[in-house]
Amino acid sequence: MATTGSAPPADVAPRPPARTTRYDVDRAALGQLLADQPRYRVDQVWEGLHTHLAEPADMTNVPLTLRRRLAEELPDALALTTEAAADGGDTVKWLWTLGDGSRVETVLMHYPQRSTVCVSSQAGCAMACGFCATGQAGFTRHLTSGEIVEQVVRASRRARADGRRLANVVFMGMGEPLANFAHTWAAVHRIHDDLGLGARHITISTVGIVPGIRRLADADLPVNLAVSLHAADDELRDRLVPINRRYPLGLLAEACAEHIERTGRRLSFEWALIDGVNDRRVDAARLADYARGLRAHVNLIPLNPTPGYATRGTPADGVERFRRDLADRGVNVTVRDTRGTSIDAACGQLAAASVPTPTRRDRAGGAG
Ligand code: SAH
Repeated sequence: MATTGSAPPADVAPRPPARTTRYDVDRAALGQLLADQPRYRVDQVWEGLHTHLAEPADMTNVPLTLRRRLAEELPDALALTTEAAADGGDTVKWLWTLGDGSRVETVLMHYPQRSTVCVSSQAGCAMACGFCATGQAGFTRHLTSGEIVEQVVRASRRARADGRRLANVVFMGMGEPLANFAHTWAAVHRIHDDLGLGARHITISTVGIVPGIRRLADADLPVNLAVSLHAADDELRDRLVPINRRYPLGLLAEACAEHIERTGRRLSFEWALIDGVNDRRVDAARLADYARGLRAHVNLIPLNPTPGYATRGTPADGVERFRRDLADRGVNVTVRDTRGTSIDAACGQLAAASVPTPTRRDRAGGAG
């Protein structure tokens, strides 16, 4: 499934630009669109979209002709292509086709007290981390803010239908959110201001784009920052996470410190444990030094299998050894609850290929 989402060869005609979709319009633009309507209609429609998460057709408090017009002039961004469930229905992955034919995935995870949605910020990714299925597939394009927000709306609607409440949004799906800063930040605002999620319930995960982290530190909402670290020495990180050659660990630590100082948020590091590559004692020692200096929380995830990367994840006993080693060195560390591997919904497995029908109930996957 690695190649399905890859960029078209150069001789293929460029795709049309992304169209304006339902959640791409802001309140002022909606007001303009409905300039011929009484003022309160704009408020009704805005509330319908963001509070009731309604489709225009279901906005029964507005006249039928207007509902039809809204459906036509504000098309939804995401056409469902496939849906797959794992973990007894507690993990749901959607594959969407966008207006230009690009494909992205969204993963909803139910936990006992809350539900979390993992959203994509780009179709594909240009960061080229070799162990990540999205990176293997290459970059297609940035998502618009409306395409990002609608993923949250769809997930929230489903959570409600399942008797759950969507409490957290993590930008840990396809793409590098800080390489698509403007659209990502507009989406964060809509999620915060209009869908009503607090900044502490929104997490941006980055490969380590230093200027983006600095912008985030200066931004007007203190969201959580997660950094996909995977190596704590430049020689290894250059190989695992190629952007490290441009933004090495020293610069990255400075930007992270700035984020912590400005926002007061706790930093977390993601570390996909790769057998014999970054799970040695020396890796734990280096990671401990790096993480302690920033008081970061470390999330360990055994590497999930992807088609384009031969090395396997660290076996369970090695994961536990690594965890204990970090904890003994004073690091705040958790092994990530893994979700969705049987439907390729786990960390690093999002490649926007078609979703196989699950044939077994997944016990140990890894989303987020
Ligand atoms: N580009 C952003 C957002 C993607 S988040 C970032 O890098 O943070 C997806 C997370 O899954 C990242 O932490 C990524 O490094 C991790 N990941 C990628 N491939 C993986 C794999 N095969 N197994 C486990 N985690 C993986």
